[in-house]
Amino acid sequence: MALRLFVATTSQGKLRDFRVAADARAIQLVPLPGLSLMAAPEENGETFEANATLKAVYYSRFAPGELVLADDSGLEVDALHGAPGVRSARYAADAGMFDSPDANDNTDVWNNMVLLQRLAGIPSAQRTARYRCVLVVARDGEPLHTSEGAVDGLILDSPRGTGGFGYDPLFYLPDLGQSMAEISVETKLSLSHRGRALRSLLPMLNPAP
Ligand code: IMP
Repeated sequence: MALRLFVATTSQGKLRDFRVAADARAIQLVPLPGLSLMAAPEENGETFEANATLKAVYYSRFAPGELVLADDSGLEVDALHGAPGVRSARYAADAGMFDSPDANDNTDVWNNMVLLQRLAGIPSAQRTARYRCVLVVARDGEPLHTSEGAVDGLILDSPRGTGGFGYDPLFYLPDLGQSMAEISVETKLSLSHRGRALRSLLPMLNPAP
């Protein structure tokens, strides 16, 4: 019987990434039932690991006896001393930019705009950055497994591509000559921070025969 793993994320982009990897290992990956109705814990950790752990521990209490996976991830830009880092999802909100209540969710667009503004005038060679991802699996409030992954790139001075999510249109992969939003989800997973973290984690859950 396939191992079942509940995922505590409402991000469609993250879910898509997770599904592609789990299918390849015959792990049944299911969004945590009722997640959108649960109050989210405050992500007040100073590291990706602290936030991923607090999310996994918190959400695992809603699914007694089950394995629950949480992810914390983000972008670190060297010229910005590692920002936005753990504040990646809230980068524009921290700068006071919010959607009006009746608008669609434009968080990614705002975040990318703030990033471009903060990097204005910085030449390409100094726009080095990396995505980082930490994954934690917990059961009944106890963290059981932790893994991490990273991928290096450069921040473009204008968006490229329509795939991916978040900062992907600005995240350029020099070896491929493409942005993260120009590659397929399979290629992204083969080299991304989340793909690398997943490849370390999944064998801990479901060792290959
Ligand atoms: P959190 O892990 O939900 O706190 O948010 C992570 C944030 O980092 C996302 O909202 C994105 O802005 C950014 N991020 C993380 N992983 C990726 C990725 O694979 N592509 C693009 N942006 C990402």
